[in-house]
Amino acid sequence: MKVLQCLLAGSAVAQKSASYDGEIVIEAVIESKEHFDTLVDINNKHFLDFWYPDSLARIKLNDSFQARVTKEDKHDVLREIHMSGMNYRIMHSNLDQMIADSAAESSKVQHSQAINRFEDSHLQYDYFKYHNMEDIYEWSDQIAQLDGVEKKVIGKSWEDRDLFVLVIDDVSGMKNPHKVFVDCGIHAREWVSHAFCQYLVGQLVDDTSSKFGFMRNGVEWHIMPVVNPDGYEFTHTHDRFWRKNRNPNTDAKTRASQIESGAYMSGCGEYRGIGVDLNRNYDAMWRLGDPMVGASKWCTDDSYQGASAFSEPETRAHSEYILSVKPEAYLTMHSYAEVILFPYTYAIDAPRPHNYLGTV
Ligand SMILES: [Zn+2]
Repeated sequence: MKVLQCLLAGSAVAQKSASYDGEIVIEAVIESKEHFDTLVDINNKHFLDFWYPDSLARIKLNDSFQARVTKEDKHDVLREIHMSGMNYRIMHSNLDQMIADSAAESSKVQHSQAINRFEDSHLQYDYFKYHNMEDIYEWSDQIAQLDGVEKKVIGKSWEDRDLFVLVIDDVSGMKNPHKVFVDCGIHAREWVSHAFCQYLVGQLVDDTSSKFGFMRNGVEWHIMPVVNPDGYEFTHTHDRFWRKNRNPNTDAKTRASQIESGAYMSGCGEYRGIGVDLNRNYDAMWRLGDPMVGASKWCTDDSYQGASAFSEPETRAHSEYILSVKPEAYLTMHSYAEVILFPYTYAIDAPRPHNYLGTV
């Protein structure tokens, strides 16, 4: 599995809402404990949105990090980074401009001959475009009409959108085909992930021009193109960089857990205090108030863990489905950064079967 680098494409719709005018993305290298302490201090004072790695806690010595900085904070943040002696650069000097540029870039890509563009022989669906939820639901209904494809609605999101999986049968007639589960879009803003799942489905079901039809020989595919539909829709309509789901975080259960964890509803229910990072909400080393590395008990954080393990309808449905299918392989697609991550990542140094997984 390759985690694809995020292509940030904006749309006219996305840009009419949250503005990122004047915001920047910086990259810097942490080469000492003093650098790390400076960064913690800066993050306490200013809002840093970590793009890579996806939280402060995951930054290791001698690694670089990338973070978005608001227009108001950028002068202070840059001064403090400069004074600390960190090596740094400004990757993007104006995010609104970058979103506009990448939208233009994406329409150029659509007409490029250089990439392996395939014509969908069944549907007139453009796999080289970032579609909104309405398009994706319509597409999934059409795909489900094809022989050997079934759409399973496995639950509902917070805002009552369908959570669905497309099951694509093995074509070899094998008695017990291998089962592979792939999901995309648990993080709303990682649009190229959603696009990848749609493309994968398109390639698997296309029986004329696809080069990948052979992947149905002996394999039954279970593909969930959008794990977090509410968050994804929100990135199209309001805020291009939204990551979490859309739990309002004002219910009694959240309130109780916030008191117990010592976070005391700080910011919950307000703009950034909405939503749970679904990727921090599974029952794997989930701990209230003292969460795993890279998770947070604060509602306003992009890595907010939720009120309890599986507090979210999206993670519950996703997990129950996977447990019912018992796939032999499971792949989850994110952006950004070109890395392959093996489970588990609840700790920086958790033992991982690198040697074995590296050979797969
Ligand atoms: Zn992600």
